[in-house]
Amino acid sequence: MNQHHNSRLYQSEVFRMACRQFDLAADAINLSAEVRARVKYPRRAIAVSIPVRRDDGRIQMFEGYRVQHSLATGPSKGGIRFHQDVTIGEVAALSMWMSWKCALAGLPYGGAKGGVVVDPRTLSPTELERLSRRYMQELIPFVGPDIDIPAPDVGTNEQIMGWMADTYSNHVGHLEPAVVTGKPLALGGSAGRREATGHGVAYLIRAYLEELGIPPAQATVAIQGFGNVGGETALALAEFGARIIAISDYTGGIHNPAGIDVKKAHAYVAYNKSLREFDGGAPITNEQLLELECTVLAPCALERVITEENAPRLRCRLLAEGANGPTTNAADKILGDRPEIEVIPDVLCNAGGVIVSYFEWLQNRQSYYWTRAEVLEKLHRQLDQAREAVEAQKRKMKFSRRLAALTLGIQRVADAKLARGLFP
Ligand code: GLU
Repeated sequence: MNQHHNSRLYQSEVFRMACRQFDLAADAINLSAEVRARVKYPRRAIAVSIPVRRDDGRIQMFEGYRVQHSLATGPSKGGIRFHQDVTIGEVAALSMWMSWKCALAGLPYGGAKGGVVVDPRTLSPTELERLSRRYMQELIPFVGPDIDIPAPDVGTNEQIMGWMADTYSNHVGHLEPAVVTGKPLALGGSAGRREATGHGVAYLIRAYLEELGIPPAQATVAIQGFGNVGGETALALAEFGARIIAISDYTGGIHNPAGIDVKKAHAYVAYNKSLREFDGGAPITNEQLLELECTVLAPCALERVITEENAPRLRCRLLAEGANGPTTNAADKILGDRPEIEVIPDVLCNAGGVIVSYFEWLQNRQSYYWTRAEVLEKLHRQLDQAREAVEAQKRKMKFSRRLAALTLGIQRVADAKLARGLFP
């Protein structure tokens, strides 16, 4: 236990990190001690055991969580992560970040996150379906279009959301697409949702490059992670004319100063399931990738990869946080003393995903569907608003961009809690 949190349940480095960020932000806007505790800790957490019949007939148990951080401004919202290292503390931290992210983006949602301790690569498609359905089945009393709306995150995808929507729909007796977002188009998914997070990351990168006076065609980019976020960020930035000089996934990275053919990398991953032995450049490690000289460094994988070790050695102009929580508190402090590096903090940088999730939910509730162009147009408008609000707060309060983004999100949640009062 330390000063930043007094939770036994959520004990973990990453939860401590989210609490420390919160405390700094709460101090900066003088949040009263009473409101502070109410805004900081998750509202509730659900832990479930998930029995899954493997294809060979054995039954294996998995553990899953769903942490609902805030329900003060509407249903809670956030992805579900399938990863072998998931802990309830990590899920709690991710749920806090979802609250600030949704509030900053002006969405009528609180934050939530889910996770199952499993390496999905070790399951067959039929096993993955049984796991996904059983996890959703266990959550039925706690989710719904007005309660909590899951979505994809690391290790989950459209197909998994489709199975979850079907499981919930079978329970209520009719199709209820608005219970999850990030669904297949055929089941009420939104045009543009799959690429929304990476598209938003690239859109914001382009906006900040413009402020720095760097044309996209002169920018070099290193991206850690080649899943939904990193892969789509790479495609969109390449489209803008930027040179992608390094990409990576959990198997390692590729470096090519002349530029990587991102479309070829996508095709390779679609077929081979990872970048292992992709011959688009020289092999490098994930650690080396982060320290490459480049215009834009975009960590788009897991938390806590920019640390006090490598923060002094970063050689980028722009650090674009496609991942949630990629920068530790200590690293953030170091970056505070490196004004030559601009940071686009996670809660702003990757908000495109949940913004288009919100659009998907709206379309589901109206049964009225928008074109991809309409979705992207609205996404850009919402991202511009969030970015302008962050820049205004940064200037007015003389905050770092991260502090500006966090204080805006946290203040909005605090205002809602105060306006609602305490029940009973
Ligand atoms: N998992 C994504 C995130 O971290 C998307 C959440 C959502 O669309 O609800 O923002």
